[in-house]
Amino acid sequence: MNIILLGPPGAGKGTQARILETERGMVQLSTGDMLRAAVASGSDIGKQAKAVMEQGQLVSDELVIGVVSERLDQPDVAKGAIFDGFPRTAKQAEALDALLSQKSLALDAVVEMKVDDEEMVDRVSGRYACGKCGEGYHDRNKIPKVAGVCDACGSTEFKRRPDDNAETVRSRLVAYHEQTAPLLSYYGPRGKLKSIDGMAAIDEVTRQLKAALDG
Ligand code: AMP
Repeated sequence: MNIILLGPPGAGKGTQARILETERGMVQLSTGDMLRAAVASGSDIGKQAKAVMEQGQLVSDELVIGVVSERLDQPDVAKGAIFDGFPRTAKQAEALDALLSQKSLALDAVVEMKVDDEEMVDRVSGRYACGKCGEGYHDRNKIPKVAGVCDACGSTEFKRRPDDNAETVRSRLVAYHEQTAPLLSYYGPRGKLKSIDGMAAIDEVTRQLKAALDG
């Protein structure tokens, strides 16, 4: 099964994708993670993406579509892809349709995670993750059980994304509403779209997500 998680920054797409990876053996395809890896490696793609990402704007469609196309050639995609943060524009959605059909893959569901914008600024500006296993934390809502030690893997290294600050989150929310939210009317008429409550507790969001995928 191949699915898209659609929602603004902070909606919980990455958190739910990680849960589906663990529980259903699917693979998370996060274009944000791929681009951050490119920036960290200092590759040409990373050099082109870095400043745009720091400003909370969208990297060019051509660049992102190229990254996804290459990723879809990896054999693990056969386990089922969870697109997280892609597509973000109409052009990307059309390109994804074309890529999936070239690779004889189907798109089974697009799940919208409905959330409240102001809450997203708080969620995103307080979040950080374990530098080793990626477990997510939040300054107020989810702190490690033992201060400074990751609950999941025991690492003492944590990382915070440079674009997870209140100002950049606001730009990212504008980009979402202007360029990504219109995809709801792209997928709606195709009968693929389901909506779930992204403001609920994580377990409840997972329950609704699974019901949407299995229903
Ligand atoms: P994310 O981790 O999904 O929040 O993405 C972080 C940043 O990477 C975004 O604010 C964009 O600058 C860039 N990015 C990630 N995915 C895309 C995409 N599909 N299209 C354009 N830019 C993207």
